[in-house]
Amino acid sequence: MKIRAEYIWIDGTEPTREVRSKTKIMDKGDEPGIWGFDGSSTNQATGDNSDVVLNPVFQCPDPIRGGDDILVLCETLLTADMSPHPTNTRARAVAAMEKYGDQEPWFGLEQEYTLLDPITGWPAGFPAGGFPAPQGPYYCGVGAVKIHGRDLIEEHTKACMDAGLLISGTNAEVMPGQWEFQIGPADTVTVGDHLWMARYLLFRLAEDHLVEVSIEAKPMKGDWNGAGMHTNFSTKAMREAYEPIVAGCEALGAEGIPELHLKEYGVGIEDRLTGAHETQRFDQFSYGVSDRGASIRIPWQVAQEGKGYLEDRRPNANADPYSVAAVMTETVCGAAAAS
Ligand code: ADP
Ligand code: MN
Ligand code: MN
Ligand code: MN
Repeated sequence: MKIRAEYIWIDGTEPTREVRSKTKIMDKGDEPGIWGFDGSSTNQATGDNSDVVLNPVFQCPDPIRGGDDILVLCETLLTADMSPHPTNTRARAVAAMEKYGDQEPWFGLEQEYTLLDPITGWPAGFPAGGFPAPQGPYYCGVGAVKIHGRDLIEEHTKACMDAGLLISGTNAEVMPGQWEFQIGPADTVTVGDHLWMARYLLFRLAEDHLVEVSIEAKPMKGDWNGAGMHTNFSTKAMREAYEPIVAGCEALGAEGIPELHLKEYGVGIEDRLTGAHETQRFDQFSYGVSDRGASIRIPWQVAQEGKGYLEDRRPNANADPYSVAAVMTETVCGAAAAS
């Protein structure tokens, strides 16, 4: 009996990495082994030395094909010595997890995205060449005038659940055509694996609906919300007491650290972190309870209970979850280890 394994990897497209995949036919029951691809076609190699290695790191049932077919997420390695390819950001997350795993870091990532008409490039729910009524009724809205694309969102949610991904919720967003799903809680490496797999399923299912999914940070200029990837983070100590949460916020605001983080938080961060539309400005740092205009929000329930997690509201929708989780673990767990 043969099955299909869809090998999935992250390419070298600048400035924002994209998902690639190809199909391997295998004997049922065989372990999906290492494979390769033409890196000169993905911005990951030159034509004269084009092979890049695919090393399977996470697999799950393929909820689209069904049966015994599987999805295989891979990291990329260099053929020369099987070391991580320069575009392999997962390696940094693995290193952070090896160093600070004893603090039991958890992440919950809120992936926002926008559905676009592939012909006009205009968001779903925007009349061709024009604008819908101003923001207000769309967030968590119900009804055909407010909501566009729910069929795809329902299908994607079910696919993530069937694949066994750690999806924890979905909602319609503030701008028409904008949606969100959440992955977590999961550790520094797992959250990236599951988020990339969920992105693959979303892009793939959108093909069937003739819709383009964009993770651009500010798809519509003007008075329309951008798309982020709010990063909820805790360590074991933060889940047990309030003081480590405040210490985490302080570590994130230390001299030079905000700049270090913004480099990993995606493309077009200045366009989205304007100080308006529920953001803090990119060149300012603040934290506060319930404050959606702060860089870091401590949810009111967390303040109430005196334990829980913090929310870094800065990462863009187009950020790489491996890089975001790695730098967050390094900064907050590194400061805790040093104190
Ligand atoms: P918001 O209120 O900002 O919209 P969401 O409900 O969309 O928040 O997302 C919160 C995310 O945080 C979820 O993915 C959830 O699983 C995750 N989460 C909950 N508790 C923790 C925790 N202790 N540490 C890290 N992430 C957490
Ligand atoms: Mn949310
Ligand atoms: Mn949101
Ligand atoms: Mn949030």
